[in-house]
Parts: sequence; structure tokens; C-alpha cells
Amino acid sequence: MKKMQLTTKIFIGLVLGILLGIILQPYPDIATNYIKPFGTLFLNLIKLVIVPLVFCSLVVGTCSMDDVRKLGRIGGKTMAYYLLTTAFAVTIGLILANITKVGGGFSIPVDAKVEISEAPNVVDTLLNIIPSNPLKALVDGNMLQVIAFALIIGAGIIGIGEKGKVLQEIFDSGAEVMYKIIAVIMEYAPIGVFALITPVVAQNGPGVLLPLLKLIIVVYAGCAIHALVTYSSTVYLFARVTPLQFFKGIAPAMVFAFTTASSSATLPLNMKRSEENLGVPKSICSFCLPLGATVNMDGTAIYQGICAFFIAQVYGLDLSISAQLTIILTATLASIGTAGVPGAGMIMLGMVLQSVGLPIEGIALIAGVDRILDMMRTMINITGDSACSVVVAATEGELNRSVFEKKAGASAK
Ligand code: ASP
Repeated sequence: MKKMQLTTKIFIGLVLGILLGIILQPYPDIATNYIKPFGTLFLNLIKLVIVPLVFCSLVVGTCSMDDVRKLGRIGGKTMAYYLLTTAFAVTIGLILANITKVGGGFSIPVDAKVEISEAPNVVDTLLNIIPSNPLKALVDGNMLQVIAFALIIGAGIIGIGEKGKVLQEIFDSGAEVMYKIIAVIMEYAPIGVFALITPVVAQNGPGVLLPLLKLIIVVYAGCAIHALVTYSSTVYLFARVTPLQFFKGIAPAMVFAFTTASSSATLPLNMKRSEENLGVPKSICSFCLPLGATVNMDGTAIYQGICAFFIAQVYGLDLSISAQLTIILTATLASIGTAGVPGAGMIMLGMVLQSVGLPIEGIALIAGVDRILDMMRTMINITGDSACSVVVAATEGELNRSVFEKKAGASAK
């Protein structure tokens, strides 16, 4: 009952925030100066727990595989799901972009200029995954490196058997402490969500949206198609979970991701909902979801595919089939390297553009509406993580189906 209330409160916070944002459109400074800080406080509180949470829960998740073979099997399934769905996601994005000619009829505004930081290249991104200094990775919050370190420690703990139990219990206890802290922070979520959405709406009124409306619609449509086709079909085929059961169970986390535009910030809620509403056991949640929050970004991949096409068209350049295949490859890799924080996907778009020789300056065209695209792509990013955890749990025979019966029973009453 209490949980329902929190979800409802988050929804109410979202709706009220949008309404106030519309009212404050003529005075965006008020929204930025007086309301946004409450949202920033909320994000800071969440950021505070992210590194210890991801680290502890991934070590525990890895150790709970009890033997290295199980770890290899679950790790293999998880990565296969993540990579295949991401490649599929970019493909959907590119097909839609081709059909709708997404960049057609768009003229380049003269004053479109933003600072774009240098995008890292593919080899560096891959090499950087293994941290030469793991403590620095933790301090800097470099999530890919944190993940690699956690997986290596977890595998080491399994490797030494009984002797590793003490360390395992310490991390287990650390993860529990983080869950507790998060539960308290979540009580503040409705206000946080309210304060985050108001300035977004106040600043990005219809004026900014109109010229890029087609791009926004195509990205939103690509994301919706991916969720409805790819996630619905995989959870149903592999886990016999109906799309309705799946989306109903994960909805609170989706709303949360939409507002915060951060997969990392949504991780705690995603873990809770996947376990309680979808019956994924804790050991699989704590392996698949922290990993997915960093490496699996289908929404970002769809966005990158569509935006690359958009920029090519706006600059009057043709994208050959082989260039589009390159985009599928680089967008898949770029989405792995994208951090689960707002705006990260736009920086990594630079890498995708570079790979096919498109002008990086094109990012400036999108920057104005990026937040709006970010909200949707983040929502899809975390939904994909949860879908993967359901599929992996079901194929391991560990999905706890009683959660659906309980829910059906409760609503029948
Ligand atoms: N904001 C996205 C996320 O956290 C990443 C991106 O910018 O694409 O999932």
C-alpha cells in the first residue's frame, strides 16, 4: 500500500512540475534559480550512493553465482541480450530515419554553436575499461571501470571458495546499507521529480521544440517501437511474462527515468521494481541491472542512429549502406561507453559522427532539444535492463512467478 502511494506521489510530482513549468515559461529564471536546486539536491543524494551501490551489488551479484561456470553462463546471456537488442535498436532507428527522411526540410540556424568536447575513439574506450588504478576509478565514478573492478573482485572471491566468504559478507552488508539509504532518499523523490521537470518545461517551451519536432517525434516513435516490439516479445517468448505485466511492473522506474534522464539514478528503483513486481531474484537483479545501467543503452543507440542520419541530411550528405552499417556498429559501442547520466549520449554521438565522417558541429543543432530526447532514451535504456533481467531469470528457471499471482489476487479483491 505504502509503495503504491510513493508511485502515485511521483506521478503527481511530475504532472504538477509540468504544469508549473508551463506557467513559468515567461520567467524561466525563477524555475532555474528557485526550483531547480531542490532537484539538484535530490540528484546529489542519489549520486552519493551510486558508486558504492553499483560496486557492492555487482560484487555480491557476481559472487552469488556460486561457481565460475554459472557466472560465465549468466554473464554470457546478459551480454548477448544487451548487445543484440542494442544493435537491433539502432537498426530500428535508422530504418525510421530513412522512411521519414528525418532531416528533410530543416535549415541550419546561423547561430547554432555549442562547445563540443572531443569524443573518445573506439579503441581507447575499450582499453579504458580495465582500470590501472581501481581506487581512482571509484573516486572519479568511472562506471565502466568500477564494473570491471567489481566483476574481477567477485570472480576472485568465487575462485578462493570458503576463504572468500568474509569479504562477500562485507560487500553484502554494504549493499544492504545502500538499499536502506536509498529507501529514505526515495521518500523525497516526488519533490525531486517536481523540481527537476519544472525548469525543463519552463526553458524548453514550444518555441524550441517546433523546428525540431520531426526529429523528436521520430526518436520517440523509435523508442516506443523498440519497447513494444523487442521488449514485449522477448519477455513473452523467453519468460511468458505478458507485456502488460511487464510494463505495469516496471512503470514507476520508467517514469523516474523519464524525469531524471539518468539510468544510474534510476538504478535503485529499477532493482526494487524488477525484484518485487517482476519476480527477478536479487542475485540476478544485482548482476544484470548495475551492469545494464552502464553498458546497455538501447534508447541512446536509437537516438544516435536517428541523429546521425538527421545531421547527414541537414548537411546534404548521403549515407551509403556501408556507412549505415558502420553507424550500427559504432552506435552500439558508443552506447556501451555512455555514462548513465543526463546528456552523456550527446557527447558520445560525436564518436558515431566521426566514424562515418559527418561534421561533429551537427550536434549543435540537436543540443537545444537534447534534454527532451534524453528523457525518452533514458526511459528505454532502463526498461531494456529490466527486460534482460526477466529473460535471464526465466531461462535460469529462477523467475518468481508468484508476484504476478499476488498482484492479480490483490486487484481482484
Ligand atoms: N541519459 C542517458 C542515461 O542515463 C544517457 C544518454 O545521455 O544517452 O541513460
